[in-house]
Amino acid sequence: MTLAITPSTKVPAVVGADLRVPLVTGERVTYANLDHAASAPCLQEVRDAVDELLPWYASVHRGAGFASQVSTRVYEQARDRVRKFVGARSSDAVVFTRNTTDALNLLARSVPKGTAVVLFDSEHHAALLPWRGPNVQRISTSSRKSDTASGAASLVVALDRALAAAPVGPRLVIVTGASNVTGELWPVKELAKVARSHGARIALDAAQLAPHRPIDARDLGVDYLAFSGHKIYAPFGAGVLVGRSDWLQQAQPYLVGGGATSKVTDHGDRLGVAWSAVPERHEAGSPNVVGVHALAAACETLSRHWEQTVAHEQELLQRLREGLRTIPGFRELSILNDADRVGVVSFTVSGFDAGFLAAALSAEYGIGVRDGAFCAHVIVGRLVKKVGGHEERAVRASIGLGTTAEHVDRLVAALRALVTEGP
Ligand code: PLP
Repeated sequence: MTLAITPSTKVPAVVGADLRVPLVTGERVTYANLDHAASAPCLQEVRDAVDELLPWYASVHRGAGFASQVSTRVYEQARDRVRKFVGARSSDAVVFTRNTTDALNLLARSVPKGTAVVLFDSEHHAALLPWRGPNVQRISTSSRKSDTASGAASLVVALDRALAAAPVGPRLVIVTGASNVTGELWPVKELAKVARSHGARIALDAAQLAPHRPIDARDLGVDYLAFSGHKIYAPFGAGVLVGRSDWLQQAQPYLVGGGATSKVTDHGDRLGVAWSAVPERHEAGSPNVVGVHALAAACETLSRHWEQTVAHEQELLQRLREGLRTIPGFRELSILNDADRVGVVSFTVSGFDAGFLAAALSAEYGIGVRDGAFCAHVIVGRLVKKVGGHEERAVRASIGLGTTAEHVDRLVAALRALVTEGP
């Protein structure tokens, strides 16, 4: 296949854009990574930043040595770089975590006792599962009779109703920025307004939004947000929770150990422990300085290229959806029908198992997609049924900075060939 089409916009380079992979035939082809929603390849600028730090990394906040001072400075500067990336308030805490899952679990452990939690059932498991107890209300996104013309607007109405019925006391709404299943953008600003009108705080799962769109937490009106480095073109291992510090400050440390304590004293039969203030309170142990530095570098690179990034993705997304719609039996999953979306398309092809398609795309065409239920079992099961599928699985193709028009065209051509051959 020789469809070398250059994208019309110049976007930051990623590492491994020319990786070649073996096919079952033994031939080697350029890898078409259409799985950016799972993890995005490292940006070249991020690799350079990591290379620069590698000779210097050391334990932070612990030593007077030069390397320790360098690492401490890099680590603390990363908080400001992240704050800037998401438009956080200067008073917001920036707590480094392992990933979004870790960040949302930290928030769940930090909410005051009895907090009423309201969320949509379409959330990724990282946002859906950390909340337990009688005060958790899940709003169904399934075929609600449309209160208004728009799917996104009906979410706002549903949240308003749920919060009106929520118990008195602290309240927290959890909402995704962009669905990891459909790429659809949630009306975060409108949802935040409703949350505020009911005295609720709102937390944004920005794992899928952060790689694709600029975020302004103050303008959106969100109180907390979380995202992962590996989805914004940095390597694995670092994520972040940004938000109001009062609940985090009152909570017991998420993990206990060095760094989370300001003073430990021996009282014979017991130890007296004074916990550190936020953010260190929730960052026990030697932190991932290199990962955090990479995450902050990715934030800055993305911030400098939003216009090109969005244009690149939207152009390729349109090409992908138009191409896929020509495949017999193709059914795209959608929650909100009319919503704008980032570069994520999940679909079924009638008569074909999602796992079979994904395996064949990889082995026969060198294309990486995701198959399964994308850590969102409830919503994927329901959406697949809605489009007439029998399995609770789908295929997901996702676009990012490493994607080219050739990758998109190869996927469409490969699916057409597989469908023509039959299962
Ligand atoms: N939230 C969303 C919307 C996601 O897509 C993901 C990962 O796919 C997560 C949360 C969890 O991210 P991580 O696995 O980095 O914790």
